[in-house]
Amino acid sequence: MAGVDLHIHTVYSDGTFTPEEVVKLAKEKGLIAISITDHDSVAGIEEALKAGERWELEVVPGVEMSTDVGEDEIHILGYYLDWKHKEFLDKLDFLQEVRIKRNEKLLKRLKELGMWIDPRELDRLAPKGVVSRLHIARCMVEKGYVRSIDEAFEEWLNPGKPAYIERIKISPFEVIGLILEAGGIPVLAHPFLSRRDDLIPRLVEAGLEGIEAYHSTHDVKITRHYIEIAHKYDLIVTGGSDCHGEAKDEVLIGKVYVPETVLRELKKFKEKKLERIRDT
Ligand code: AMP
Ligand code: MN
Ligand code: MN
Ligand code: MN
Repeated sequence: MAGVDLHIHTVYSDGTFTPEEVVKLAKEKGLIAISITDHDSVAGIEEALKAGERWELEVVPGVEMSTDVGEDEIHILGYYLDWKHKEFLDKLDFLQEVRIKRNEKLLKRLKELGMWIDPRELDRLAPKGVVSRLHIARCMVEKGYVRSIDEAFEEWLNPGKPAYIERIKISPFEVIGLILEAGGIPVLAHPFLSRRDDLIPRLVEAGLEGIEAYHSTHDVKITRHYIEIAHKYDLIVTGGSDCHGEAKDEVLIGKVYVPETVLRELKKFKEKKLERIRDT
């Protein structure tokens, strides 16, 4: 059965491929559909859809939102959302400003720790906007301050480490609401990374509609576990590699087998929702 990959980052957040490069690569790998899911950004969607038409590959509009519950980070994916929705775009602008301020503080902290990074370096690595800690980690490697991205996070950038700067917190419950209002399907991303299964009932109450059971950090057993949870709460199952291009150790597109049926179910779910809206 053909495969899909519904979780991919591009240069519009912390991936290294343009949307068109992602589409071409997915096509080469024999995938039949992809979704680009940039962090807190929908800016690459239009380009991806156009590239999809050009290369005859199905492209699902998507986004990945960073949210917080206490000290834990929870990521919420949104599929088929209206990427021109005013309130949603306003929220993304706000989050972008928050990120800019956070990154300024982070560079200041690194400087105090003896690691100077020119902000222009970040503009070079992230010319399209959203700058994440991964860009900063890449600069730290380039400058020779650390040997690897892993070391940058483990020694400096992770919560509790000397260069960790808190973000303004936004709850997954609020973000699920925003995605729903923008007509999207909210999905809990890589649940095994956050390890907060205890939150799932509350997320479902807030309107969560899916769970990412297939992911590059999930083995077969973990995938099965989350498929069971999806059945229990009547959620759809999604999946993707979480490819960041060459920003991480390995180019992950297509490395996680996500069956075509996942896309079919996602589309069926979307159609049913549209019907329900039309009927009311
Ligand atoms: P931010 O959104 O600025 O907090 O940055 C988080 C991003 O950094 C994530 O989206 C990942 O791509 C990346 N990241 C976080 N932890 C690690 C890690 N241990 N190794 C590699 N990349 C990481
Ligand atoms: Mn990332
Ligand atoms: Mn994530
Ligand atoms: Mn991701």
